Amino acid sequence: MPIYSHSQLSTYETCPHQYKLAYIDKIEAETEGIEAFMGSRVHEALEKLYRDLKVTKLNPLEELLNFYHQGWEKNWNDRIQIVRKDFNAEDYLRLGKKCITDYYKRYYPFDQGKTLGIEEYVYFPLEEEKGYWIRGFIDRVTLVDSSILEIHDYKTSNRLPSAAEAKSDRQLALYQMGVGGKWQGVQEVRLIWHYLTFDAEIHSSRTPGELHQLREATLELIRRIETDRQFLPKEGPLCAWCDYQGFCPKRKHLIAVGSLPPNEYLHEEGVILVNRYAELKERKRILNEEIDTELAKVEEALYAYARSEGIDAIFGSDHAAKIKIETKEKYPLKGDPSRRALDELIKKAGKWMEVSDLNPWMLARVIGRGGWPPSLANKVRAFCSSEESRSITVSKLKEKE
Ligand code: SF4
Repeated sequence: MPIYSHSQLSTYETCPHQYKLAYIDKIEAETEGIEAFMGSRVHEALEKLYRDLKVTKLNPLEELLNFYHQGWEKNWNDRIQIVRKDFNAEDYLRLGKKCITDYYKRYYPFDQGKTLGIEEYVYFPLEEEKGYWIRGFIDRVTLVDSSILEIHDYKTSNRLPSAAEAKSDRQLALYQMGVGGKWQGVQEVRLIWHYLTFDAEIHSSRTPGELHQLREATLELIRRIETDRQFLPKEGPLCAWCDYQGFCPKRKHLIAVGSLPPNEYLHEEGVILVNRYAELKERKRILNEEIDTELAKVEEALYAYARSEGIDAIFGSDHAAKIKIETKEKYPLKGDPSRRALDELIKKAGKWMEVSDLNPWMLARVIGRGGWPPSLANKVRAFCSSEESRSITVSKLKEKE
């Protein structure tokens, strides 16, 4: 029976290949981002706070912070990685402490409602016929005024979502489906996110119609997952935080060479090949630039020579260069500041239909043919500028030439 969780579905949306590695191949992650590590420790502390409250023990903030520190030290391991190199473990430890302290001060003495569940497990059929089930853990469920059920979720991310993003969030809305009917007398369900690093609460709710739409969208996503045969890697800014980089074709070389000492690194075959390739491409670019500069100088010299000698073919040992220098009349194009005045002039003269939408090349032909009254032609010519067009064609000389 296929069972999905919100984080499983999100992983697929972020990167199908990561989903395959984690949930199909069931490869154990090699690393753990410090952000996730810190989030887990903060969750544990808040879980303890409410669990102890259930047996009427209100932990002083100091004790809760001690518990957090102990959890940090006990769980710290070599797999934890810090992607943002301008921060260290101490910075994250402090941030977690701040999250707990702000939360504690804001909600003390924690009597905003009656706690019904902590780390409450939800498991429910999304579509019974196909056997798709959803599971998850709700951080905390609270009953307020005997009839309002609150689903609370703690976030330690460094980004505060907009109200619109909260309204389209899937996680808590799925949990709402999961707790439907579990407690009697519930007339309203509120979804509440605690963005701890911002000391902020975000509220939302879902109508039965919105829950129905979410169910359909989630089923559609599950169908996509189940018919995917490729699970292609989807590179993005979150790759640096992906715990499966060592197994991903897009990043595993980076990870492999990243751990080599400098002397070995420069002898690694892939590193040698890429360095050589990049060097050759750069040399080619520089050479092309040098040749283009030299070519432009020789072209100018050829035009100057053809002009001074009054010739349009210049012969070398094996090749001949044909020189073409023409001066063409050029009328303003659409968008040119003087174009509107020219349009008006021709329309007033009743000649508009002859040049239709005033194609400048057609106008040059009409004027060139001399079909318009000279006074009008002269007025139109006032808009005209001239442009030199030049070209050089080089051909190999035949034997007898
Ligand atoms: S490193 Fe990026 S592309 Fe590769 S599996 Fe992870 S998220 Fe996907």
